[in-house]
Amino acid sequence: MKSDIEHILFTAEQIKARNLEIAEEIDAFYTHRKKEILLITLLDGAIVFTADLIRSLSVPLRLDCLRVSSYGDSTNPETAPRILGTLKSEVKNKHVLLVDDILDTGNTMSRVYEEVVSKEPSSIKTCVFLDKPDRRQVDFHADWFGFSIPDEFVVGYGLDYAGRYRQLPYLATLKPAVYSQNLS
Ligand code: 5GP
Ligand code: MG
Repeated sequence: MKSDIEHILFTAEQIKARNLEIAEEIDAFYTHRKKEILLITLLDGAIVFTADLIRSLSVPLRLDCLRVSSYGDSTNPETAPRILGTLKSEVKNKHVLLVDDILDTGNTMSRVYEEVVSKEPSSIKTCVFLDKPDRRQVDFHADWFGFSIPDEFVVGYGLDYAGRYRQLPYLATLKPAVYSQNLS
């Protein structure tokens, strides 16, 4: 797997340090308001980021997950993401923090955001591990993000290509040859 990596954008140490900074900001925001969070994370990509982030947060929270339809095996996003499954928690009057791995075109986050807003939370904020502003198709900004990256397809730290590479502890790009292989 390591031989498939082209270059590493952020090491595990850099990611850890940045996560601590975001967690401090989120804590400060909610603790100041004496609020408990309902943290809604989007599967599967945000699983690693969420696992690390919540262990750095002091603010009380409850965790819920949503699965959203994804790329399949290509590196092109579906323009109309579908929400698969439902939340187990009541959203009404809760302070929701929506977490995803990456804000790319913005279609996924804006779709889920609308869905959550329709359930009448007291407040809703968003946090993503990565922001890829160059590819935005809808006007959407995350309240907190880990790193802003250029328009490159990245893997690792929860992000996959064709279901693989999520386990890498760093964020990286893949060698072009990987995309021309049959990975099935
Ligand atoms: P959006 O709807 O904002 O275009 O895309 C969000 C979703 O697309 C993310 O949750 C993620 O699953 C996927 N995605 C976008 N860019 C990348 C990328 O560079 N690498 C990977 N592995 N997934 C991406
Ligand atoms: Mg995703």
